[in-house]
Amino acid sequence: MAPKRRWTTVMEPDEEGEQEIRRVGTQHLGKRMASTQQRLDLVHSALPSSSSRLLAGSNDYSMAEPSSPAETVSDPDPVAGDAAVDEDEDSGVEQIINGDWDDFRLSGTAWRHRKGRRRIDTRDWKTRIDSSNEKWRVLLPNLVDAYLEFKYPHKVAGDTPATRDTAWDFEIPVLDIFTLKTSANIPRLAEEPTISVPLAKAGFLGNVPEAPSFAVSFSTLELYRTLRLFKASMSVEAFARTLCYYYQTPYRVRYRNIISDTFDIYLAILRAVDKSVREELGHDSPDWRVQNACPPCSYELEGEPHTKFRRMIGLDGNNSLKRQKMLGRRVADTRVFDKSDYYLSREFVDSFENEVPSRQHTKATSPETETETETGDEWEDIDDDAADPTDGGDQASACTRNWKAGAADSKKRKMWAIFDETGIFLSACQHGFILWVCDMVQSGELSKYALSMTAKGLETLGDNVVQGYDIGCSYGETILHTSLAARFKSQHWRSCVNAMHGSLHEIICRLVNHPGIIEGLGLEDLEHLERIFSASNALAAGTRFMTAYRRRVFIDLYFRQWDDEKYSNLGNFLLGNYRQALKIIDDDEQVVLKALNDEGLCEDDLPQLFKDEIVYVQSMNVREPNEDAVAAEYVGLLQEYADARNAEESSFNTFVNEIPANYASTPSEQQWGSGRSHTMRTETHRRRNHEKCLEIDTRLSVMERAMNIERRWTPADSKYQQTLKYIKERRYRIALRRLAGLVVKRLMELSAMNLANIAYKVRTHMCKALMSRQKAIRTLIEQVNRLAPDLGVKKLSFADVTHYEFLDQVHILIDPNLAKERSNAKWAQPVMRNIMRRWQRINRAKEEIVRCNIGVRRLHTHIQDEEKFFDTVLEGLTAKSSAVLGPTTEYITRRRRTNFALLLRIQQIYTLDGFTGIPTPGQRKGKSADSADINLNWNRGDHPWAQVSDRVNIDSGNFNVGDEDDDSGGEQDDVECAQISGYVDYFSSM
Ligand SMILES: [Zn+2]
Ligand SMILES: [Zn+2]
Repeated sequence: MAPKRRWTTVMEPDEEGEQEIRRVGTQHLGKRMASTQQRLDLVHSALPSSSSRLLAGSNDYSMAEPSSPAETVSDPDPVAGDAAVDEDEDSGVEQIINGDWDDFRLSGTAWRHRKGRRRIDTRDWKTRIDSSNEKWRVLLPNLVDAYLEFKYPHKVAGDTPATRDTAWDFEIPVLDIFTLKTSANIPRLAEEPTISVPLAKAGFLGNVPEAPSFAVSFSTLELYRTLRLFKASMSVEAFARTLCYYYQTPYRVRYRNIISDTFDIYLAILRAVDKSVREELGHDSPDWRVQNACPPCSYELEGEPHTKFRRMIGLDGNNSLKRQKMLGRRVADTRVFDKSDYYLSREFVDSFENEVPSRQHTKATSPETETETETGDEWEDIDDDAADPTDGGDQASACTRNWKAGAADSKKRKMWAIFDETGIFLSACQHGFILWVCDMVQSGELSKYALSMTAKGLETLGDNVVQGYDIGCSYGETILHTSLAARFKSQHWRSCVNAMHGSLHEIICRLVNHPGIIEGLGLEDLEHLERIFSASNALAAGTRFMTAYRRRVFIDLYFRQWDDEKYSNLGNFLLGNYRQALKIIDDDEQVVLKALNDEGLCEDDLPQLFKDEIVYVQSMNVREPNEDAVAAEYVGLLQEYADARNAEESSFNTFVNEIPANYASTPSEQQWGSGRSHTMRTETHRRRNHEKCLEIDTRLSVMERAMNIERRWTPADSKYQQTLKYIKERRYRIALRRLAGLVVKRLMELSAMNLANIAYKVRTHMCKALMSRQKAIRTLIEQVNRLAPDLGVKKLSFADVTHYEFLDQVHILIDPNLAKERSNAKWAQPVMRNIMRRWQRINRAKEEIVRCNIGVRRLHTHIQDEEKFFDTVLEGLTAKSSAVLGPTTEYITRRRRTNFALLLRIQQIYTLDGFTGIPTPGQRKGKSADSADINLNWNRGDHPWAQVSDRVNIDSGNFNVGDEDDDSGGEQDDVECAQISGYVDYFSSM
């Protein structure tokens, strides 16, 4: 019987991460390896002896057995050796067999049994990877112990025997960026059954669970982890290239794979360690993180002033962290990363799938909301029937339609079909701490993602929570049609829009749902999700081509670090907000009161003006009466009829005029030939116009019958004139709304660019591109202005429209009567609008100060309690000489230093001119009062972590975090650019 031919899938990822799948027979593989060896030999024979010497030891990658053990030890340079192998051949081969091929190529070591004989692994990728993962899983607890032993050694007397049998020790090629050693001698005890555990005890991690051929030092992996924490775009490949550079050898895909594989396991070890640390600290209950991670949100104290909202959270989805469907070897990685408490499980999210009845979506519904849309062929509508978060309401409000039409492409319900996970959906507290994450799976933003976040929030965050969402208005309605409705109401939750996105909503929605208007929100804009997504873009380049498992691991890693940074930034956050609020009050309060006085009003009159505005807008929103629409249609048709009649007349005249002067009823042959075609054309033209007239006339007659009009209206009739005015107003209104929609859309594009954080050149380029696109805005302005004289309203200039007050006044401009007779409506007067807006902001600023007072005292109390708690924990761990004393101490040390820096900021807030809070810690709700204050007034040298203060510039008033390109030099040149940036700033702080 002929042997069954076996196939192995080989994948060669190139730099861009695209994969080419080739199928290579295992027989063929043997041949290829032989030919590789042949070529190696050829290359060697042609090299000068000095070169050959340099590369000699590297032959541990060749097929030949080393001639003597001494040779192996003398130069087992894995890196140089690898480089000598033909890249083409090897990059394919090496991936097929990973560990086994490596075994085969390695020089002899004490632990290796298969010498020189190649064992072809014929299992498919999935079996092989599953088996490898299972082996790692079994090994993990031992590896964690070994890692702790290595990382935090604590010598106990009599720990190591004086003499040790070294027969089981082994040599292994290693990568270590700190020593640049190419091999390491690993001590191993006779009774040690594995290779990986002694390796870990010596500070290395093998590339495969059993019989590793290569190891990477923990310190190298830790360096990569740290780099990634602070530069999420740092790819494994970039790091592998760095390593190769240090090892003075060309880069090979193989190193990337080794780093990548070992890094997975390294992170798994760290997570296990982290879990033990959290257990020791009592931070391991299921919802501990969301309930405690952000002290200003969660560390509630006894006797705090009442606030309308206990917490403010934001929800949003984003597509940048999407992931392509996998090909090749990576398909086989079926691991599921469920160790993250950031992630809501897919099952939980899916349980909200049928909460909202899906709706067939109609195309852009009304002409008033119509904006230009761009479509590309590569886009594909997916899940079109699935419910989105705005589907639950009885009526889809106009602002939902606006939103959908105007939102960026990424918000739309389309996605490249090549993606599996199409992005993430996220919720976070106002201070930027992440609450939960879930994957959006082959869909746009569906209701289930937001609902699962809200459900989880209702369960864990308690009462009085406000959630901001860019479609918060209709989402709020949606919730009321789901099983969450009762809880949502009884727990006094509410939904609102966020500040900048809110400007795309209808005015009536803005007057109710905008954070600048809602009482109790302080100066919170609820746009923090946008900032999180903008930052997490750094991660996006890498996650797109990762396996599902790795993508989640990296997202989890990223958000953990994100939260750490948010914690250390809390002091700046509170100080910044406090200062901002004080400044607003300081700058504006007296000015506004005086202006009010000048208008003959007082503060108590203002609420009525806001009510008047709402009443007006509500009445404006009443749909146009049906008769008006019918009359408009009729008058429109009359106008069309008049035009058609004119056209008919002129074509008739042309036809008559063209009858030659010497017209004879029987023209000569020549006359007939030259004039015939032209005459026929004018005749056809005339006939068509005549037919059109007849057709419109018929339609008019039908309408007149239906409308009971006995005599056809003429332009002299008052009804005709009224309707004509109505038509003009309507056109004006439509044009104006489209203009406002376009302005908002441009603003959103600009803000999405996050102009502040990108390099000057790119920024300039983008601004110019946008400027050129503002032709569309100019065209609409012209359209509006053509209608303006008839309606007796002022024409708009480009400057008017791009001024931020434009959007605030669209609903006033839209009503020509109101625009003309503003004196009748106090709230619509420009002076009053200015006062009203500033007065609202002053009120929000006052609320902000109350919120800051609460937040800063919570943080202070939390730090004080935590410091004491840390002492207790450390004492306990020391007493039982626990294995996790090391990592716990490390965690606590870092945290204490951060706390110290935070205390300095807190002190700074206490000394602010205008600080109105209580400058001492309080007592946590439900906790007994046994605590003495941490003395904030210690001398610098007294505190054990005082040295940090040298690094904390406490006097700096500038709290900009992050690396900003210093490009101020060129900025002055581009005034347009600066203007746009200013506009964006305005909107993001709105
Ligand atoms: Zn918070
Ligand atoms: Zn809305």
